[in-house]
Amino acid sequence: MNQLPPREKTLDLIGNTPLVLLKGPSEAAGCEIWGKCEFANPGASVKDRAALWIVNDAEARGELGPGGTVVEGTAGNTGIGIALVANAKGYKTIIVMPDNQSKEKMDTLRALGAELVLVPPTKFADPNHFVHTSRRLAEETEGAVWANQFDNVANRRAHIEGTAPEIWEQLEGRVDGFTCAVGTGGTLAGTGMGLKAFDEKIQIALTDPHGAALYNYYANGELKAEGSSVAEGIGQGRITANLEGAPIDTQFRISDEEGMEWVARLLREEGLCLGLSSGINVAGAVALGKELGQNGGGGKRVVTILCDTGFRYLSSLYNAEWLQSKKLPVFDWLR
Ligand code: PMP
Repeated sequence: MNQLPPREKTLDLIGNTPLVLLKGPSEAAGCEIWGKCEFANPGASVKDRAALWIVNDAEARGELGPGGTVVEGTAGNTGIGIALVANAKGYKTIIVMPDNQSKEKMDTLRALGAELVLVPPTKFADPNHFVHTSRRLAEETEGAVWANQFDNVANRRAHIEGTAPEIWEQLEGRVDGFTCAVGTGGTLAGTGMGLKAFDEKIQIALTDPHGAALYNYYANGELKAEGSSVAEGIGQGRITANLEGAPIDTQFRISDEEGMEWVARLLREEGLCLGLSSGINVAGAVALGKELGQNGGGGKRVVTILCDTGFRYLSSLYNAEWLQSKKLPVFDWLR
């Protein structure tokens, strides 16, 4: 059995996550469905990678140095990743978030030592929107950089240089498809570009939640959203800089109910406690696996992202009252 090499510093714990064969999804798809265990990163999500690359890039460009501060507008995983990376490198962190986000997230960010700035939830066009507020704060703060995860392509480089080669090596070059949902687009575009560089025949699929505009964009060129989703961290309405040039071959639209079914099954049948974006990704991977199987026999291998830990959602996804309030089915064991 391969042993993981010892790491010389804590930041080296980011990335090189395990890849696991998912039994139920593989049976449902009629091919191998593999999950990249991003919950195994120190901040328990895929966003640790983007945080590390963005901070390293700001240092390399000479924009961030001793005594510096990293500012970002985010409610969740990116803020957690940035706070951990900034701590390890001796920087301060300022996170701007809308004040309607869960108490759990605010508590986590405060616990990590980030300074929290709460703003009212507003539309993107409002100058007080958390993204614009974070940009202004970065401009006004001495020695600060704005992480700008949506349009800073250091985000997708984390996946071109990290996630994609890891998957390629872990499966010894036998990969047929990759899919995941989009928040910033860094994971989908970066992993897609990285895998295509190894083998351009690898099929890259967008898995879009309801309420996002990208399914229509890649299907017929129109940025148009339909429906809604309670999934956190995914659901995009525009082509971010990270998404520009993403090599998307096909696309699927997945409902919260389908995603929740996989969240429930992966927990009860395979012992993995995940967030809803992971469940939606797995549903998309099953759809891609079925499509690849139809187009060219069996034995295909599809990879998706298990984005974050379900422990981040104990008061929502894993809470009967919350599920009822969102009109989602309540897991049997929570009744
Ligand atoms: N799932 C979760 C839980 C996330 O927090 C994010 C990041 N917003 C994503 C998926 C999507 O990742 P990306 O920003 O790389 O598109």
